[in-house]
Amino acid sequence: ALSIGIVGLPNVGKSTMFNALTKNNVLAANYPFATIEPNVGVVPLPDARLGRLAEIFGSEKILPATVSFVDIAGIVRGASEGEGLGNKFLANIRESDAICQVVRAFVDDDVTHVDGKIDPASDMETINTELVLADLQTLESAIPRIEKEVKGKKTDKDVLDTAVAAREVLEAGDTLFAKGAAAGVDMTIASQLGLLTTKPFLYVFNVDEDQLTDTDLQAQWQALVEPAEAIFLNAKLESEVAELDDEDARELLEGVGIDEPGLDQLARKGFNTLGLQTYLTAGPKESRAWTIHKGDTAPKAAGVIHTDFERGFIKAEVVSFEDLDTLGSMAEAKAAGKVRMEGKDYVMADGDVVEFRFNV
Ligand code: GDP
Repeated sequence: ALSIGIVGLPNVGKSTMFNALTKNNVLAANYPFATIEPNVGVVPLPDARLGRLAEIFGSEKILPATVSFVDIAGIVRGASEGEGLGNKFLANIRESDAICQVVRAFVDDDVTHVDGKIDPASDMETINTELVLADLQTLESAIPRIEKEVKGKKTDKDVLDTAVAAREVLEAGDTLFAKGAAAGVDMTIASQLGLLTTKPFLYVFNVDEDQLTDTDLQAQWQALVEPAEAIFLNAKLESEVAELDDEDARELLEGVGIDEPGLDQLARKGFNTLGLQTYLTAGPKESRAWTIHKGDTAPKAAGVIHTDFERGFIKAEVVSFEDLDTLGSMAEAKAAGKVRMEGKDYVMADGDVVEFRFNV
């Protein structure tokens, strides 16, 4: 499964946020025999549609889609040179499919900042610089090798062009995620070269409680990290919320002026950053969300349930959640002509409620 690596300077609130994430650990709740790694948090993707489906179908259980986060400790200035936990750190990032950077914006004189001041822009610069330097090192040894291979006709010229174009972006101090595509870098090839900054980024600003509703400030920071998504949360508050039942949690959140936990936003934006979407199945046993890639066809989606479903795919009976919600039952939806039969070329839409027909 795809995972998002959590990085950030020391003392920005990574552990606090990660602990809050793992208090929601769905693996522990739904799969009692699963091995739970200490640095992996598998959290549910909040999805109000599942509750409604369970009501319509009388489902016993609700199974949301999940998002996996990996706590990657140890980035410091010099990490790209293998300082401290540097090498382990880079290996961990290499295994992640997206990079979530936690940035400290909260002010607290009791919590030391490694650089002695609260400056989100400078912190992001520090971390991105380490990643950019790591990629430049990768290219430094890769480019001479690729040049030889291209001469010997073992590698496509495209690969060399990509490497050279990528180096130019990195030398300007930019990540490939932010500037690569615009500079004509073939991002697929660049990612196959093992360049870390091709991975999609997202940013969590660990803000003070009074900044949670400061939309002007948030807009400024969002602009700073474009095209990445930004999430604004207070890690301490999130860890308190994670301990409470729904009603008490809602009250606490209302008290600071927000209507959902920041971690819900993180799960949603993280899922989106990974290029994923869900489709839904429902019946008396369970209402469930399944994870697919944006653009996946119906047989591919069926394969997520079982490989036999993909191989033996005949067709998919599809109704949009919105139509089903409005009409209130499958029978009504059918009567209204809202239930479609789709073939193997159908591209799944988010929120499709599906039943697959297949040969075994
Ligand atoms: P890490 O080194 O990035 O994992 O940071 P920690 O999660 O260990 O947090 C470092 C310190 O900052 C701890 O004492 C936390 O209690 C504190 N801290 C974390 N988040 C917040 C926050 O949102 N507000 C305040 N005031 N303190 C926080």
